[in-house]
Amino acid sequence: MSRDQKAIKTVKFNNEIKKSELKMSEINKNAIKVCCTTCPKECVVTVFLEDGLLVNVEGQGCKRGEKFAQKEIITPERTLTSTVMVECGGKLLLLPVKTAAPIPKKEMALAMNTIRQTKLTGPCRMGDVVIPNVCGTGVDVVACRSIKENDHAC
Ligand code: SF4
Repeated sequence: MSRDQKAIKTVKFNNEIKKSELKMSEINKNAIKVCCTTCPKECVVTVFLEDGLLVNVEGQGCKRGEKFAQKEIITPERTLTSTVMVECGGKLLLLPVKTAAPIPKKEMALAMNTIRQTKLTGPCRMGDVVIPNVCGTGVDVVACRSIKENDHAC
């Protein structure tokens, strides 16, 4: 790879990244290994850094792996799944919920606390917004199934 090509591929690396945030990564001197979870193949992608700059990505089975690895290092995101308590027809029911899109990993604990403190009154339908804009992420927490008055209690 020529120096010009290398320069084009170079992406400014976020200095605020904490190594502890890279849970699924194996940190080497100038290389970080990331497991791509975009598809079941789960390629181990190696990201090479030079002076804090991302200079190359290897090991990906397709282009999506390169994009995933860059995002995983700079702003990792995950879809959060959990349950909330719903009072419906005099019974307490557990409603499975999830974020409608991935949210930043650093907001996961706060979002989880918000979900834990949420209690709803039923009935509700699959896809209903349970918590709008959770923790200011711009992403809603939505119901993963419907709850009717004649559903069994948990
Ligand atoms: S790099 Fe491509 S093939 Fe490999 S796990 Fe990611 S999406 Fe799948």
